[in-house]
Amino acid sequence: MVVSIHQLDDGAWLSVNDSRSVPVSELWLLARHDFCDCEPADFLAEGFVEVGVDWPDVEGRIAGQCVQCGASGVTGWLALGRVERESEEFHRVDPSSVHVPERRTRLATPSE
Ligand SMILES: [Zn+2]
Repeated sequence: MVVSIHQLDDGAWLSVNDSRSVPVSELWLLARHDFCDCEPADFLAEGFVEVGVDWPDVEGRIAGQCVQCGASGVTGWLALGRVERESEEFHRVDPSSVHVPERRTRLATPSE
């Protein structure tokens, strides 16, 4: 199974299998995060910093800012979508549902 994950245009897009799948400039609702003191935080995504696969989840760390308090920085790892095992189709998550960033030390390696 080969899934190709990239960021394009200086982090403006997450590309999955060579199609632009998730844009930035969207509001993500973050809960149980350490990005700022808002709970939950309305986080405006400005750019993908790192992307990777924790099979079957496609994950990324996103730079941006909290629209409530103005804090800016980079999130922990967020699930951006998942790849269907059978069809290999990518289904993105809904940014406006609640997302809990993961703090983790190991790096996800995109399989290419
Ligand atoms: Zn905040």
